[in-house]
Amino acid sequence: MSTNLSANHAPATRRRILIIEDEPDIARGLSDALEFEQFEVLTTGYGREGIKMLQERGADLVILDLMLPDINGFSVCEEMRSSHPVVPIIMLTARSQETDKIRGLKAGADDYVTKPFSVGELVARINAIFRRLHRSVHLDESVSIGSVVVYPRRHELVRKGKTIPLSFYEVELVRLLVERIGEPVSREEILDKIWGVSGHSQSRAVDNFVVKLRKKIEDDASSPRHIVTIYGIGYKLVA
Ligand code: CA
Repeated sequence: MSTNLSANHAPATRRRILIIEDEPDIARGLSDALEFEQFEVLTTGYGREGIKMLQERGADLVILDLMLPDINGFSVCEEMRSSHPVVPIIMLTARSQETDKIRGLKAGADDYVTKPFSVGELVARINAIFRRLHRSVHLDESVSIGSVVVYPRRHELVRKGKTIPLSFYEVELVRLLVERIGEPVSREEILDKIWGVSGHSQSRAVDNFVVKLRKKIEDDASSPRHIVTIYGIGYKLVA
């Protein structure tokens, strides 16, 4: 298997994180903390420049502020998703409205962090993402769900001969549901295991994320047969 991810904690190639944030104090605080963790960091305060940087230099993860001086984070996210379907995107926002969260997930963000946030917590979350990405490199097998075949390692699924990309968190959710196939998995457990957050405050975000995943997996997303809602609890996978 050809991979540049080594088994120890010091990969030969440093992972690159792109920060798109126009507030200098936040950008600097994040950048310092991530460089301390041995990441290579690119920063810009503008959305368009961020899109260009991702296209030209690439990144292993993007931290994206919602309110930017040129174009808003939702548009940046959508544009990045169309060219980079897999790269984890964490959206930052000063607002905590549920509608923003839902819009962000629809635009293709994987995670959502409300300001003010703890830099240490965000760095821990980023490290957890990379640990799981590393693990997924060793997962070669495919998973059949109905008429769909999911390839976790390739971050894609094949449905009726058509290849559809899956984001990092979509793969993680499929993996969790497959591990617990036939059993209900609670929203709280999904939040905890996939996003590393606890509490009920973001459980609507889980529902919206599932809606998006169903559109890729189910023949008819409005009457799902594979990712089934268990009322009052969460979801269950029926292969
Ligand atoms: Ca801003």
